[in-house]
Amino acid sequence: MAVVKANAYGHGAVEISRALMELGISNLAVASVQEGVALRHAGITADIVVLADLFDEHCDDLFAYRLKPVINDLRLLPTLAKKAETAQHPFPIHLKIDTGMGRLGFPPSEFERVLEAMPSWKSLTIEGLMTHLADSDGEETGHTERQLELFRTMLDGCKRRGMMVPMIHAANSAALIRYPHSHFSLVRPGIALYGYHTLPQAVQYDELHPILSLRSTVMQLRTIKPGDSISYNRTFIAKRPSIIAVLPIGYADGYSRKLSNKGYVLIKGRRAPVVGLVCMDMTMVDVTDLPSVRIGDAVTVIGRDGNDAIWVDEIAQWSGTIPYEVLCAIGPRIPRVYTSP
Ligand SMILES: *Cc1c(COP(=O)(O)O)cnc(C)c1O
Repeated sequence: MAVVKANAYGHGAVEISRALMELGISNLAVASVQEGVALRHAGITADIVVLADLFDEHCDDLFAYRLKPVINDLRLLPTLAKKAETAQHPFPIHLKIDTGMGRLGFPPSEFERVLEAMPSWKSLTIEGLMTHLADSDGEETGHTERQLELFRTMLDGCKRRGMMVPMIHAANSAALIRYPHSHFSLVRPGIALYGYHTLPQAVQYDELHPILSLRSTVMQLRTIKPGDSISYNRTFIAKRPSIIAVLPIGYADGYSRKLSNKGYVLIKGRRAPVVGLVCMDMTMVDVTDLPSVRIGDAVTVIGRDGNDAIWVDEIAQWSGTIPYEVLCAIGPRIPRVYTSP
């Protein structure tokens, strides 16, 4: 089950879903009904599970667009079951158990009661049982092992009741790589599909390759004197005669303001530091030490250029966040261009 929420982690949900379907992936996961509906409108026919954000008012769309809800509490079931009565086949749902994420799902102590209540909703069928791991990319393995054990106990309970649930899933990217016994019948990788992981350094795994590069252009060049300042609030004051390149990319495009005076980009394979505050639509970099930069030169914000590369892990470090946030922040006005390898 490929996770394509948040516009496929910034990569473009429609194109990524299409590519995944061509590779034979038949299950996708999104966070909201709105994301699922958008994929249907784009002609994506794969099975789609909605992981979060479900209210009574979404029930019509779940049916109309053939989206499978993850059920986290009993609140949605009466409306859902009533709607499903008019359908020819029982409507598939996935039940989520909270084994230690502290977010969505039935507490294990209530799960028995849920299973008892299920037969009264005859128009619904439990297609999936799932849980979500809180610390599969953490240093310690204890919490993950306890979550998996608790999940297995819940599954045993289902088995004892004679329940046949075809899709059992728990593993996100980190668990997919690091906990083979978390795979069950289905895995739910997100970030790994896009070539990143956030596993501890001690876990050696280098089989992933980022699939996205982000490029900009030198839009203007200016020569400044010592004492001249760059951008809002004058946080950069030149100490030497400098050449500054203006790039038409800013925080509205997902280039975080936290990269102000911290980040780097690549021009002609060389690193140029961000100077001054990142603006909404523009960023300035110091190209004084780079040979003959010209207007129109390609700028690599994410990706490889010559012998150097800047990947999202590094940008995340500079801006005090995780690769996930850097990727899904890439804004809607950045054109996505797709090429085959
Ligand atoms: C986002 C998400 C995933 C994917 O997580 P990654 O760490 O990106 O692999 C899997 N399951 C659920 C429930 C999620 O919300």
